[in-house]
Amino acid sequence: MSIEGKTRVLILSAPSGAGKSTLVNHLLSRGLPLEFSVSATSRKPRGGEKHGREYYFIAADEFRRRIEAGEFIEWEEVYRDHYYGTLKSEIVRITMAGMIPLFDVDVKGGLNLKKIFGSSALAIFIMPPSVEELKQRLIRRATDSEEKIAMRVEKACMEIELADRFDMVIVNDDLSRACNEIETVVSGFLRNE
Ligand code: ADP
Ligand code: 5GP
Repeated sequence: MSIEGKTRVLILSAPSGAGKSTLVNHLLSRGLPLEFSVSATSRKPRGGEKHGREYYFIAADEFRRRIEAGEFIEWEEVYRDHYYGTLKSEIVRITMAGMIPLFDVDVKGGLNLKKIFGSSALAIFIMPPSVEELKQRLIRRATDSEEKIAMRVEKACMEIELADRFDMVIVNDDLSRACNEIETVVSGFLRNE
């Protein structure tokens, strides 16, 4: 089965801390025919994360072996020694179940997926109100060390410059407004066969 071409997909990308997971969870709670595409990663689980739910957690060596075997449609070394990627088998699993894959990927990965799926994909960039607010959200979220937060903020500045390559930019300032906006846009995309 070819997973490119006409397969309709939804891509959400954002700098870390912009509120992408929050908006993804909102969309997934709305009874739309969307299913979260579980990525593989070589980073360790955080907090209550479970293998097969947030990610497929695999060791870096195993990750590299599966890259060589051509099992990923896209992958990135998002942070040093931290690989993330989308398994082709995950897209087949979701589309075979009659659902539309929702990709929560970094900005480079989102643009790569948009290139692959073309007009069958809706690629949305979630924009933080400002870099300072993004930093504050990461500090408040309290899941990353000071060093990791600094790395994520630095990367965010480069990622924001790529926003206009996406089909649409949604500013996550007021959360309920951003939730309504994304739901409206995505519902429209899902209605258009
Ligand atoms: P990402 O998945 O992009 O890294 P999260 O969804 O984890 O970001 O959001 C980062 C933090 O900011 C979380 O603690 C979340 O609750 C909070 N957050 C999300 N959206 C908003 C918003 N509009 N205003 C204030 N805080 C927000
Ligand atoms: P986190 O470690 O916070 O879960 O994720 C770090 C970054 O990796 C986020 O921007 C997330 O969207 C991204 N990411 C997650 N899965 C994938 C994937 O399959 N491919 C790519 N390119 N990035 C991913």
